[in-house]
Amino acid sequence: MDEDLKKIIDFHGHFCPGIAMGYRVAKYVMKNYKKSSDEELVAIVYNDSCSVDAIQCLLSCTFGKGNLIFKDYGKHVYIFYHRENKKGIRISFKEEISEKIGDIRNKILNAKGENRNMEHINKLKKEYSDEILRLSEEELFDIMDIDIPEPKRAKIYPSIKCEECGEYFMEIRGRIINGKIVCMECFGKLIDED
Ligand SMILES: [Zn+2]
Ligand SMILES: [Zn+2]
Repeated sequence: MDEDLKKIIDFHGHFCPGIAMGYRVAKYVMKNYKKSSDEELVAIVYNDSCSVDAIQCLLSCTFGKGNLIFKDYGKHVYIFYHRENKKGIRISFKEEISEKIGDIRNKILNAKGENRNMEHINKLKKEYSDEILRLSEEELFDIMDIDIPEPKRAKIYPSIKCEECGEYFMEIRGRIINGKIVCMECFGKLIDED
């Protein structure tokens, strides 16, 4: 097994279809884009599935560094932007692949009677994962160059003290309630009391 795939499975905890998909996307980007040394490569992902762990693990686009942006569109679409050359690419899975993914997902969701056992479901998942690993990049992806504005870098904001709980928080996350400046956690609790 490829070292990179091993690394991802260690990070994620198991091998699954999402990992197979994310691995293929990440490998393509590694080959065709320079790996992010720090925050130069930005990933914008349209789903929060297992696949994103492969992106974080191999490409070093992480939530903590601010070069992983999540858009909750529920689609297997991945955008990469390189701050050095100001270029963006959009990677999606081909229609036939998406259809197959949908089919297998529906089979898993609808598995009834004797098929509704983990052994059967795991077999389907394994077949699907292996297929994703086996297909060529041409068979898997639609790739487009795209022109997008440069994603903003992570900013640092001043800290202020919450007048309710006494904990410090990022200034722009503050709220005012009952004449006090409070953190969002306290704001949520106080607004529920009203
Ligand atoms: Zn998984
Ligand atoms: Zn508070």
